[in-house]
Amino acid sequence: MSDVTDIVIVGYGPAGMTAALYAARKQLTVTLIGELPGGEVRNSGDIENWIGDRKTDGNTLADKMIEHVKDHSDMVTTILGKVASITKESPTPPSLPSGRGGALFVTTTEDGKEFRSKAVIYTAGRHPRMLNIPGEKEFKNLGVTYCATCDAPLFEGKDVVVIGGGNSGAEAVIMLQKIAKRIYVLQDKDQLIADPVLIANFDKDPKVTITTNAQTLNITGDTFVTGLTYKDKTTNIEHKLDVQGIFVTIGAIPNTAPIQDFIELDPLRAIPADRYGITSIPGFFAAGDVTTIRDAQIVVAAGQGCSAALSAGDYISRL
Ligand SMILES: Cc1cc2nc3c(=O)[nH]c(=O)nc-3n(C[C@H](O)[C@H](O)[C@H](O)COP(=O)(O)OP(=O)(O)OC[C@H]3O[C@@H](n4cnc5c(N)ncnc54)[C@H](O)[C@@H]3O)c2cc1C
Repeated sequence: MSDVTDIVIVGYGPAGMTAALYAARKQLTVTLIGELPGGEVRNSGDIENWIGDRKTDGNTLADKMIEHVKDHSDMVTTILGKVASITKESPTPPSLPSGRGGALFVTTTEDGKEFRSKAVIYTAGRHPRMLNIPGEKEFKNLGVTYCATCDAPLFEGKDVVVIGGGNSGAEAVIMLQKIAKRIYVLQDKDQLIADPVLIANFDKDPKVTITTNAQTLNITGDTFVTGLTYKDKTTNIEHKLDVQGIFVTIGAIPNTAPIQDFIELDPLRAIPADRYGITSIPGFFAAGDVTTIRDAQIVVAAGQGCSAALSAGDYISRL
């Protein structure tokens, strides 16, 4: 492999690994840089919606994806590391034809290593915003979850809390209405901020109790969640709820710090990209949860990774 690879892929999750697989099969050289091999799949607990695997778990699925990419190690070099910045070299180096997007991208890791490439596919994902209260970390995936689409079916017949009154909280409640026995919604503001059309689905359902001005204080349990305590901010009185599931839906933060000065982000810090992974910068593609994608799911991230790799291949073929 030369010093310049065709594509640097940032992110070792399903979007990045699928992009690497498709690029390798197009005979493109790839440097795949990521911190956590498997990405958020590793943290996903039980997975029941990856087509072809009725039930698997995050570690098993992540390992299978990594093995699949390793089959193409002649084309794909993997680097464990954290990307600190991405820039574009200028002027156009002689190694590349001049013309559209001829300059190379330079991806720099936190330990100062530089990787030059003709194109970049950025797939660094996002991380759920956490409550940062006692018990949250201990019971993550043991009753505390950040993904209703993924985990709601695991709480059949249970009492659960949804924390957060925005659209993702409302969607979580709607999903849980058919599954859970009782649903408490805790919102720290004085009203739900989800779209009224969503709230209308559950605000009169006797199994749903909505509490506003509620500040969640701590989560308790033994091997699994058994309850939480919140404070009514108007009275300062603390209340305890006995529940077996806690859905934290207070937003997610795209991992875009390394590129915040490189490309324009949307107000939520996600990368605007079209369905082909094309962004506002020629040669810089994006896929998966780090984009303005609506559905943060493994199958969607993988599909977007595929499209971004094919777009990058097309871009490189025209340089
Ligand atoms: C608790 C939980 C449960 C879930 N359950 C399911 C489920 O059951 N089914 C489902 O379909 N989806 C589920 N999801 C969602 C799913 O995990 C994501 O949609 C999917 O992993 C997104 O893939 P991605 O490749 O876009 O990003 P990620 O999987 O987040 O991968 C991003 C990669 O980028 C790396 N990275 C980040 N910043 C940098 C940097 N600066 N430099 C280098 N590397 C970096 C990360 O380490 C990681 O390797 C769940 C998510 C969570 C949090």
